[in-house]
Amino acid sequence: MKKKTRGNRGTNNRSGARRLVFILIAVFLTGFAAGATTLWSAHNRLIDWRASINDVQPLTRKEISALRAHLNPVHLRAVSSVGIIRNSKEIDELIQRGELIHLSDCAYYAVHGIPNGMAYLRPQAERTLAGLGARFSSKLAGEGLPPARLCVTSALRTTAYQNQLQRRNKNAANHSAHEYGMAFDISYQRFPAAGPFWTPSVWKWKLIRLLLPSEPTAAAVAMKAVLGRLLLAVQQQKQALVIHESQQPCFHVTVPAK
Ligand SMILES: [Zn+2]
Repeated sequence: MKKKTRGNRGTNNRSGARRLVFILIAVFLTGFAAGATTLWSAHNRLIDWRASINDVQPLTRKEISALRAHLNPVHLRAVSSVGIIRNSKEIDELIQRGELIHLSDCAYYAVHGIPNGMAYLRPQAERTLAGLGARFSSKLAGEGLPPARLCVTSALRTTAYQNQLQRRNKNAANHSAHEYGMAFDISYQRFPAAGPFWTPSVWKWKLIRLLLPSEPTAAAVAMKAVLGRLLLAVQQQKQALVIHESQQPCFHVTVPAK
């Protein structure tokens, strides 16, 4: 009897080990198939994006000059009914009254290189910025381009800060709509990926940078064209005045005060 029990136990152990090996092989094959499918779909997406990037015509000279049609004096007149913000004390007062909105990274735009205490806009200008970001995002999807956000490189400039800039950069205007909290600059070279880092679309965007180093530049040229055309439409609808800057790689956008 004892012998028979030992024999049964041996058979049970062997079939248990076989089952374990079978499960491990199944897990490995499933993982391998899932990984291969993900890589394959990422690869196909890369090919689609590359084709879409090549399909977008860069901005023409005519479009660029239309984006320079209204110069600084026109911008200043458009915001003259709103007061200039001279210093940080005035910033604090406006924040208290809910007349300045702090800019922080969100679904439609990311803030880049703006000094501490200057990432602010009046509510009407911030709404226009977020609206532009939303429209930009759907235009990109419509063109089959990777998801990206606007990169805001300048917002409010107090008079003190504007004077500082002027000393550094002779091109900086004497007065600008930035001093009214009604203007912002959007980079036409940087387009931060949309969504948090771990989302698949962003992961794929990072993959593009890794695998095809020249592609982000081509993508930026295509995205600049999409953004420039959107800004032209917005300017025609009298919702904004735009300057295609050349000293800095950005579009300056002034929101006319209502
Ligand atoms: Zn500007």
